[in-house]
Amino acid sequence: MGYSQLKIPRICEYCSKPFEAKTVSTRFCSKECGNKSGKEVKKQAKEDERKQQILKESAASIAKIQTRPYISIAEAVILYGISKNTIHRLIKSGRIPAINLGERLTRISRVHIEAMFPAIELPEKPKEQSTKMIYEPNECYTIAEVSTKFGVSLSTVNKTIRRFGVPMRQVGKFVYVPKEQIDKIFASKQ
Ligand SMILES: [Zn+2]
Repeated sequence: MGYSQLKIPRICEYCSKPFEAKTVSTRFCSKECGNKSGKEVKKQAKEDERKQQILKESAASIAKIQTRPYISIAEAVILYGISKNTIHRLIKSGRIPAINLGERLTRISRVHIEAMFPAIELPEKPKEQSTKMIYEPNECYTIAEVSTKFGVSLSTVNKTIRRFGVPMRQVGKFVYVPKEQIDKIFASKQ
């Protein structure tokens, strides 16, 4: 065979030793190096797969945490990147409501920590809200007005409105909410 006469100087891709390759596609100095390299490729693939799995699981668990009203301090640390000390301080100062289910089993309100909002009491039972707006425009705020008046972000206003089932009416690009209800909800947060 003509190929066996060929001497192609190469560096082994596994052990970096110079060798004379028999074909242009030879990558390793020996069968051993070829095998070891193959094993490492497999190991790397397995490792990558494992990392992907961890990522997928953590995304799933984060999604799950985000739907729960109360979360653990450890979860809050992960989710919001705040230190344990900060969370404990916020609980102590009453800035976020917490429930103590036992030693090391503190659960804190996710929406509050998310909004960095003073603690409020949820109404006993959310009252049935009619979907009809019975308020006149001058009895309403826009979302931006609520945000300005109470010094909270637009997203917090939106979340609070949804949470309390405040009736909304959209006119053009503005969403109107009744002053009466908004004042009541936000006054308890001041
Ligand atoms: Zn080698």
